[in-house]
Amino acid sequence: MLASRSDSQLRSLENPDKQTMRGESSKRSDKLLEIPRKKLNMRLYTEQEQKIQNLINSKSVTISIIALVGIYAILIFVIVALEELMDETEFNNVSIILSWIELGILIVFILEIAVGLYAWGVMKYYKDKWLILDTLIILLSLFFVIFELADQKTSNVVKVIQAVFRFLRIFLLIRKAQTFRRLSTISTISTPAEKIVRFLSELKEVIELESMKLDIDYCIDKIGNNQLYQMGKLDEDNAEAMGWLNQSQQGKSSVRKIVTVDQQQQQKKVLANFQKLNIPKRVLELLDKQHDDLYIDPFECDKLSGGEGLVYLMLFLFENYNLYDVFLIKPKVVRSYFEEVMRGYQDNPYHNRVHAQDVAQTCNFLLNRCKFIEIGQLDEQDIACVLIAGAIHDYGHPGLTNAFLINSKNDLALTYNDQSVLEMFHPSQCFKIAWTNQKANIFESLTFQKYRRIRESIISMVLSTDMAHHASELAITNSRVAAPDFEPYGKDKQRLMDLVVHSSDVSNPTKSFEIYKQWTERVLTEFWLQGDKERELGLPISYLCNRYTTNMAEAQLGFIDYVVKPTFSCVLGFLPAFEPYLENLDKNKAKWQELVGYYKQQLASIQTQ
Ligand SMILES: [Zn+2]
Repeated sequence: MLASRSDSQLRSLENPDKQTMRGESSKRSDKLLEIPRKKLNMRLYTEQEQKIQNLINSKSVTISIIALVGIYAILIFVIVALEELMDETEFNNVSIILSWIELGILIVFILEIAVGLYAWGVMKYYKDKWLILDTLIILLSLFFVIFELADQKTSNVVKVIQAVFRFLRIFLLIRKAQTFRRLSTISTISTPAEKIVRFLSELKEVIELESMKLDIDYCIDKIGNNQLYQMGKLDEDNAEAMGWLNQSQQGKSSVRKIVTVDQQQQQKKVLANFQKLNIPKRVLELLDKQHDDLYIDPFECDKLSGGEGLVYLMLFLFENYNLYDVFLIKPKVVRSYFEEVMRGYQDNPYHNRVHAQDVAQTCNFLLNRCKFIEIGQLDEQDIACVLIAGAIHDYGHPGLTNAFLINSKNDLALTYNDQSVLEMFHPSQCFKIAWTNQKANIFESLTFQKYRRIRESIISMVLSTDMAHHASELAITNSRVAAPDFEPYGKDKQRLMDLVVHSSDVSNPTKSFEIYKQWTERVLTEFWLQGDKERELGLPISYLCNRYTTNMAEAQLGFIDYVVKPTFSCVLGFLPAFEPYLENLDKNKAKWQELVGYYKQQLASIQTQ
């Protein structure tokens, strides 16, 4: 899409702030209000047309049409089979009935097209060129059926054309099935921002005035980048105003050298350097084989490591990507740092050191196996930040949610003013570890600028794991991934790094069911312990925290549908290599569906006790 834009369009997209500063954009919009709609050549839909569009696009109508296409396909095969099996008179008698059924189905298809044409208008409806072919096939099919019903004695030539033509109709089935697949993978949840962006994109399609299209691009860009309330660029000479307004942005992003990691070369080096890391042989073998595998068993890794899996994983990955050079430190400092981090994880059922190891390792799966390093052109510094964020993201977790800490007026909630309490606490503690223990200070040799960038990036990723911001952040990322100026290796990189850590944090349902089930039992055990505390303290019992009413299987079905699927659909938008793993969500959902009854019984037996 970018390639088809003229240079002037591109310039204006790159420099939207300049436009607004001069007031050109707003002036143009004022003028537009005076131009009659006809001159703009735009077609705005009436309320009735919009209602019909929504109805046609609804899941129930689409499914009904697909069902009808299915029946139609079966009918075609039945006709062809009967023609072979029966003698001519017998077949002629049966074929009249079948032809009437066919006629009925074709009339429904014609009606669907007619309603679509009414709702969207000819130009918009046939923008999808395949629909022209669909219409042609249906009209010709109708012609043949009427011909057949009017006159039984068709010539041999017509019969052959008819037979060939029948198979052409199978096209319809494939086309409709594709529409269905698209519908079933698209998440139905959307925020107002997404709806506005969708509306603006549709508006752009019906407008012909180039200058107005540019204005719409500007709007989409600002909404998609969450920059609605950001100041435009100030004049360079107004230094005082710049000083006041950019206080929080000191030392921000200078152009960074991008180095891609030559993995093969690294691999050879790693094997030679492994000895000095003192990683137990069996752990090393496991990591060598599965460090970027979604299906590694984190519990097995922890067991083989004697509880030090997080430390060994980080040492292995630092060596693998040669990250010591980013920090100019020796492996022993890295070891000391992650030993401290590991010790800070409490022995919670879920939020413990194995979860940290699991999230860091899943980040590495997305970085390496799903090629985020290549797509985002990540340098060693970026890789280090993602892996560190994964490892520290739940440091010191008390096994209680933000809601509990806030409701119980916990010291942490008071310290962080109820705002992303735990997500503020985790990185804060992990930076303190470094600066209070010299032997473990991985940041000591960094320049001030580099330290600021690394710190900013890590904190951003850990904050992104706060579920309170999940829906709004995901909506913005979706808009960015779909935007014409999307830059996974440039201005969108940090946002995608944030999503890589957040999606790894909710990735349990993408894994094998055996591992996933263990995590589920652990997380609910933790929630239920919190629920018991809430009951004791007379606090409201949080969602999923009541052990007497929460059905484990049902809870997971909701988690997959409302959180995990939309998250990984977004990941798929920029990491297409994730596609084969997406089906695990449906497979695991099916397994939970089978278990809903079992957990219902369990709950009933607890309640009657
Ligand atoms: Zn976590």
